[in-house]
Amino acid sequence: MITTKLNTTVRCDMGGCDNLATYSFSKGGDIRTQLNICEHCLGEMYESIGKLIVPKGINNMLSKNRKKKEEKQDEETVL
Ligand SMILES: [Zn+2]
Repeated sequence: MITTKLNTTVRCDMGGCDNLATYSFSKGGDIRTQLNICEHCLGEMYESIGKLIVPKGINNMLSKNRKKKEEKQDEETVL
C-alpha cells in the first residue's frame, strides 16, 4: 500500500463527506484506483479498524515484557 500526502485539491472519497482529501492510498498503477481520504475520515477509519485489527507490534511488546519479567523472577529465585 502506497500512502501519499496530497498537494492537490481533491474531494474526500468517503460517501457523505464534503471535505478536501489530505491523503491518498494506492496499490500502485492506475491513478483512478487510488482512495483519497480527508483527515477527519482517516481518524474515523482508524478508530473503526482498531476495533477489528490489533497491531502485531503491541502484542510482541507485551509478550517481550512478560518474558523479561519471567526471566527476572527466575533469576531472583536462583539467587
Ligand atoms: Zn472525508
